[in-house]
Amino acid sequence: TYVIASPCVDVLDRACVEECPVDCIYEAPRMLYIHPDECVDCGACEPVCPVEAIFYEEDVPEEWALYTAANADFFAEV
Ligand code: SF4
Repeated sequence: TYVIASPCVDVLDRACVEECPVDCIYEAPRMLYIHPDECVDCGACEPVCPVEAIFYEEDVPEEWALYTAANADFFAEV
C-alpha cells in the first residue's frame, strides 16, 4: 500500500484524490489518508503530490514511519 506522510498535514492539496482509480484516498481534518486495504499499489498518486507526501510503504522515510500506522489506524477506528 501507499502511505501519506507528514508533508500533507495542513496542505491537503487533493491532487492525489483526482488520480486514484479506486477512490481510496480519504479526507480527515488535517491531512489525507490512504486506505491500506483498498489501495491497489498503482502508484498514480505519488508523482502528482506537490509536496511529495506519498510513499510506497517500504519507502516511507524513517522519521515518518509512524504515518504508516496512522493511515491504517484512521480506518480501523470505524
Ligand atoms: Fe490510489 Fe494508486 Fe495511490 Fe493506491 S497507489 S492510493 S490505488 S492512486
